[in-house]
Amino acid sequence: MLKVMPIAAFKDNYIWLLVNPANRHCIVVDPGDAEPVIDVLKKENLILSAILITHHHHDHTGGILTLLEHDAVPVYGPATESIPGVDHKLRNDDLVFIQALDLELRVLEIPGHTAGHIAYYGAEMLFCGDTLFGAGCGRLFEGTAEEMLHSLTKISELPNNTLIYSAHEYTAANLRFAATVEPFNADIQKRIQDVATIREKNLPTLPSVLQLEKLTNPFLRCHIDSVVKSAQEQTHSQLMNPVDIFRTIRTWKDTF
Ligand code: ZN
Ligand code: FE
Repeated sequence: MLKVMPIAAFKDNYIWLLVNPANRHCIVVDPGDAEPVIDVLKKENLILSAILITHHHHDHTGGILTLLEHDAVPVYGPATESIPGVDHKLRNDDLVFIQALDLELRVLEIPGHTAGHIAYYGAEMLFCGDTLFGAGCGRLFEGTAEEMLHSLTKISELPNNTLIYSAHEYTAANLRFAATVEPFNADIQKRIQDVATIREKNLPTLPSVLQLEKLTNPFLRCHIDSVVKSAQEQTHSQLMNPVDIFRTIRTWKDTF
């Protein structure tokens, strides 16, 4: 049975560490910084087997070359982004098999935050970088609203019990926005309480569960009446198309 834990980096990044306790082999996802990873490897006496990358931003890739100086391991990443150190370039539906962890992950291309952004899905887990967050989604730096909505829809078609391993601790702030979009959503109100309790103890609010995101994440709810109504009020128009709804709430969140 794999153990998955976050390594905190920078202000609010999580570098996800997956460990096979039987042989002490591990992999890391999006090591933006090498130091905290090396510290954990030493402290826990772990052997690094591979590095997985979701997109090219420095807070997800900055530690790759230093980690490679310590251990020459394969580095997986998106085929269409140029990232120093990535030597296994992945496309949609490619399979990554990590033998030391007996783990198979399937690649999903999910453009929007960046043009080549990918996620890894397997063993009921999704490592989705900066595309889906607790109660939120990534900013549109390189993609269109249409692409991002398509990517989020692709994620929402995974099984409801999928654990969502996002790369940032943004859930509390995202929920404040979610409650503004949907003031009468009781699931959002309950999640605000739950997240406050978790954060008081300084614990991560991740992984989340896809089912909970579908109930509380406005960006997965562009087809729900209350979200449509709020977007229409924002723009003083009768928009109905899910892409227009998505674009409206994404733009609204950018300045919230
Ligand atoms: Zn990013
Ligand atoms: Fe990031």
